[in-house]
Amino acid sequence: MNNNKLNLDSAQTLLEEHRQKLDRFSELLIAENQKYNLTRIDSPEQIWVRHFLDSLAGLSVLNELSKKTGKPLKILDIGSGAGFPGLVLAIIRPQWQITSLEATEKKANFQKMVCDTLELKNTTILNGRAEAVAHHAQFRQQFDAVTARALAAMPVLAELSLGFVKIGGLGLYWKGPSANKEVQTAQAAIKQMGAKIENSLSYTLQTEDVEPANLSLVICKKIKATPTQYPRVFGIIKKKPLS
Ligand code: SAH
Repeated sequence: MNNNKLNLDSAQTLLEEHRQKLDRFSELLIAENQKYNLTRIDSPEQIWVRHFLDSLAGLSVLNELSKKTGKPLKILDIGSGAGFPGLVLAIIRPQWQITSLEATEKKANFQKMVCDTLELKNTTILNGRAEAVAHHAQFRQQFDAVTARALAAMPVLAELSLGFVKIGGLGLYWKGPSANKEVQTAQAAIKQMGAKIENSLSYTLQTEDVEPANLSLVICKKIKATPTQYPRVFGIIKKKPLS
């Protein structure tokens, strides 16, 4: 597995170009957070770095994939919460199709409200669970890439997400500093899903008032079809993670 450092300078520039929409998103998030506690990160500066900039950690990899396919990407963001990274990708890449899948209804509804307010035309928000939706023909092996941030440990994540990915497509997973160790424990699960580990990129997010966060992005590539029995029901995935 390669281990490279990720540079987020061009992502920062791109965010600036979409500041108007992103500031509105930030305001909606802060207002909603006061009602429901959607996220612990709640100052505009923290939101900009820890949500918006972090959401673009996968951008260079996705840009490359888009160049390779020669078409606008179809991306599924799983367990998207208040819309990260999915809605940020939708804002900065209006030509890509972003589907956002979230199990909690109030969070999916918040995302719908954000899409309406910002007039995003390239998003579909689904309220549902990955392990169920992954078995629908309409979604199975239909996406160029899946993304997931703060959803589950790697073996669970591999099982929940890789059935959605086309052969040749990618799984992008936002992880903390111990990603490499986590990936080692997920080797077998990733292989059973018909994928392999492609890369792991490390990066640091820095804001004024808190410690820098050392993070990483793990990338898996789908090389053959995921066996139809996966993903299993959630209770079984949790109780008996693939190993
Ligand atoms: N990606 C967002 C939210 C992370 S919290 C962020 O980084 O800010 C994880 C989210 O995944 C929660 O909102 C939870 O409701 C959702 N979730 C958990 N299990 C899921 C599943 N099996 N399918 C779909 N969503 C799920």
